[in-house]
Amino acid sequence: MPYPVGLMLHGRRVVVVGGGQVAQRRIPTLIAAGARVLVVAPDVTPAIEGLGAEITWEQRVFEPGDLDGAWYAMAATDSAAVNEAVVVAAEERRIFCVRSDDATHASAWTPAVGRHDGVTVAVLSNREPLRSAALRDAVVEGMREGRIAARATRVPNPGVTLVGGGPGNPELITVAGRKALMEAEVVVADRLAPRELLAELPADVEVIDVAKLPRGRSASQEFINQVIVEKALEGKRVARFKGGDNFVFGRGYEEIIACREAGVPVTVIPGLTSPVTVPGLAGIPVTHRGVTHEFTVISGHLPPGHPESLTDWAAAARMRGTLVLMMAVENAPAIAAALLEGGREASTPVAVVCDGSMPTERTVLATLGTVASVLEAEAVRPPAIIVIGEVVRVAHPDRF
Ligand code: SAH
Repeated sequence: MPYPVGLMLHGRRVVVVGGGQVAQRRIPTLIAAGARVLVVAPDVTPAIEGLGAEITWEQRVFEPGDLDGAWYAMAATDSAAVNEAVVVAAEERRIFCVRSDDATHASAWTPAVGRHDGVTVAVLSNREPLRSAALRDAVVEGMREGRIAARATRVPNPGVTLVGGGPGNPELITVAGRKALMEAEVVVADRLAPRELLAELPADVEVIDVAKLPRGRSASQEFINQVIVEKALEGKRVARFKGGDNFVFGRGYEEIIACREAGVPVTVIPGLTSPVTVPGLAGIPVTHRGVTHEFTVISGHLPPGHPESLTDWAAAARMRGTLVLMMAVENAPAIAAALLEGGREASTPVAVVCDGSMPTERTVLATLGTVASVLEAEAVRPPAIIVIGEVVRVAHPDRF
């Protein structure tokens, strides 16, 4: 049974014998620990050679004297005889030595190592490296996501965190977003926020589902601002959880202003925003070399010509690049008409991606000339992203 220890190698000589894949994997951690690394090998991989002055490379076969003055050694050649010679030379000099081909003849074992937030996780199994690595991954991932935490030692951290949830599939939240969610005491969630993630929250978390509030209140941004500020002032950690990114048609900055006025600290964790990720999931790139030098994201919640509209649809029609429309299902016929009037070709390809990243995801193809009738015929319902432009042809050359 190994005796675990953390070696402080800073400034100390460490000898690595061998220049293959095993050595390549270990050397960067030794460098990160501050060790003075001597590599002895007739040949090394390009990656090791590329380390340049970060290591010393003796391009030759191993000699026992290489270990003189070393604190730690690594036998990592593909020759059992050479590895054995390294182990013997290390033993004579009382230097701990790991051996890549046969740990039973080594005086030290390398654990599977992971790091998170100032903590090093090292796992040693009974020479089952895959099992060690899997356990290491499970622990580090648990810490990253906040599922494994030393709650007793955590400093209380009240305030509001805006958490972008991504387009809907629970896998598409960021690592930081997931962690903030798991650490929250109050979660204020929207309709488009990935719902499966709410089900995983600890039982004592208060979930305020803004989509399910009694009528009227659900529409009120003022109510949401008030709730997040009140809960934070009670000393709670609040996560404001939305679909996509909170600042992309998400009213996130209104919440920041409300918090700031109340003296409540705010943290922002961006999310994968649907105008980029939903086309991407459907295999449509928003840019393509030689095809478009711009993509423009426009809200279609008001039709062209509406007195409160802030969009210059004539300008959008004159641009040649990709247009990405959000909240535009209802007004798509009026928008298509305005773009045609402004000079876009009726044959311009259009893709409508509904329920992006959800099990019900589907893509409906049309042209600017046909999109109004196709949306009706296909009974398209929100949420949907409408992509207009030549990138749709790039993704669907057979259709256009
Ligand atoms: N903050 C969100 C957008 C909120 S506005 C974000 O950054 O993505 C709501 C609009 O986003 C919807 O009308 C739709 O156009 C788009 N949308 C969001 N999620 C979507 C999804 N999974 N599939 C298709 N469209 C989506």
